[in-house]
Amino acid sequence: MGHEGVCAVGFQLMNGYRRPSLPAAVARQLRQEAGFGCAKCGHPYIEYHHIVPWAQEQHFRPDDMVALCGNCHPSVSLLGEDRQYAIKANPFNIRKGRFRGALAYDKRDLTFKVGGNWYADTPIILQLCDTSLISCRLENGQAMVSLMMLDEECHQILAIRDNEIIFRTDDMWDFRYSHNLITAHSAPRDVQLKMDFRGAEAIIEGKLQIGNAKIELSANETVLPGYNSMKGCHIHGCSVAIQLGDENEALPVRCRV
Ligand SMILES: [Zn+2]
Repeated sequence: MGHEGVCAVGFQLMNGYRRPSLPAAVARQLRQEAGFGCAKCGHPYIEYHHIVPWAQEQHFRPDDMVALCGNCHPSVSLLGEDRQYAIKANPFNIRKGRFRGALAYDKRDLTFKVGGNWYADTPIILQLCDTSLISCRLENGQAMVSLMMLDEECHQILAIRDNEIIFRTDDMWDFRYSHNLITAHSAPRDVQLKMDFRGAEAIIEGKLQIGNAKIELSANETVLPGYNSMKGCHIHGCSVAIQLGDENEALPVRCRV
């Protein structure tokens, strides 16, 4: 079974011989056609399966590959090729029109590095009017993150509520999920998100749309509408760290999923 490589010409050692890594563009095409989850069941944690087996022909043809989760991968591999192509042609998430799944994070505290600033034990990191865009809480020793990405008209492009993520598949250009790391790109509007909880710091970065303005959460700084920049701040025990707009005003968020 193939795993995505970091570059198109990378190689990995398998069974004593060198097998090239799956090209990034092929992996993205397979994610896109499957609605970013397993083609059979929609699960967010996917692998890339060769319908025409690698042992038979060494290829990375997207037409003869499909995205599958670790549960479905072995059983689908045993099906006839016609059944495998049928699963590829009718992916679970595309049928539903949405991606949904639980993000598994091994994160047990509420310290986050968001757009170049550190937030500890701060339940609401970013709020627009009465609606929190980035918030967190602890439940049974596990960090639960909630986050919202909106478009210009306050339609939800992506919502995470207590680590449960949902978005419409046609709102997303690319979405990658692996253990403790997600990246999302909504290409037409250039809205992006990265949540990287692999290292010592739990990093949240991206470009979030707010009406006609953007909030940039880059590695080193947070740029708010009006070009106010925040960098290197340590905020601890604050109920709301960044409030944009009037907290008594209702934000007309429209749910699309
Ligand atoms: Zn599956």
